[in-house]
Amino acid sequence: MVVTRFAPSPTGYLHIGGLRTALFNWLWAKKNNGKFRLRIEDTDQKRNKQEAVDAILKAFNWVGMHWDDEVVFQSERFDIYKKYVQELLDKGLAYKCYLTPEELELIRNAKMKGEEPPIDIRKYRDFKGELDKPFVVRFKTPLEGTLCFEDGVKGKQCVEAKEIEDFVIARSDGTPTYNFVAAIDDHEMGMTHIIRGDDHLRNTFKQMLIYEAFGWDMPKYYHVPMIHNEKGAKMSKRDGAVDVMEYKREGYLPEALLNFLVRLGWSHGDQEIFSVEEMINLFDPKDINKAPSRFNKEKLDWLNAHY
Ligand code: GLU
Repeated sequence: MVVTRFAPSPTGYLHIGGLRTALFNWLWAKKNNGKFRLRIEDTDQKRNKQEAVDAILKAFNWVGMHWDDEVVFQSERFDIYKKYVQELLDKGLAYKCYLTPEELELIRNAKMKGEEPPIDIRKYRDFKGELDKPFVVRFKTPLEGTLCFEDGVKGKQCVEAKEIEDFVIARSDGTPTYNFVAAIDDHEMGMTHIIRGDDHLRNTFKQMLIYEAFGWDMPKYYHVPMIHNEKGAKMSKRDGAVDVMEYKREGYLPEALLNFLVRLGWSHGDQEIFSVEEMINLFDPKDINKAPSRFNKEKLDWLNAHY
């Protein structure tokens, strides 16, 4: 069964870019009689806001995109993640790193200047003892070879393994980090297809390593180029990158907004107006454009008037 998801971090409102990503995942699940699931990525408890979770759920209800099964909150799954961290430690695929904040600062500064760091970030990779000091847990990335995956939008993506440093999977307070929990949850929630912004493309290599470490199959990834404003630059609030509910307050029809969004990065011949049913029947993530799409407010207004 096809299973897709939308996995927002509840640090702000749901904006146009997020809703478009969610829409692509929702359409693909519907087309395949699969499931579309919602996961709230709230592991960073300092930055999360309950209002943001409420706003996201409200926006989904307004546009009529319903999710299947219970909403998954990562903040309720810390015990599960801890077990997986321990499993990697036990297998020797991760290790406790005791570098101090000062040492890390030295490494960071040297890297920023393009110099060889005075301390190796992998200093504790083969250290066998235990120290009575705070530590983070780092994943052991391969020291050589090339990592590749086939992206459904962009084609084959590769990176030299040594370019990916031993990344942190658990912070010193024990909380897990994004790449680690995303891979675990995508596996546990049964994801088959992941459509998300191409700002996450490089993270996929790390998530792929986590999949491999546990011997899990990797879902199929589709990285979607960002939405740009009419001048070809990153969208800002002034360009319409606002809370989706702002469009409701301004009187837009939810179907017209979805129709507008589906066309940002996906097209079907010259057709402009699509019913939700048609979008479900026609959408295929392999047809997502490789180039960034442009937000055009006039198009949205035109669709809203003709829908
Ligand atoms: N929580 C991530 C974000 O909001 C989602 C990443 C993903 O889709 O894997 O950017």
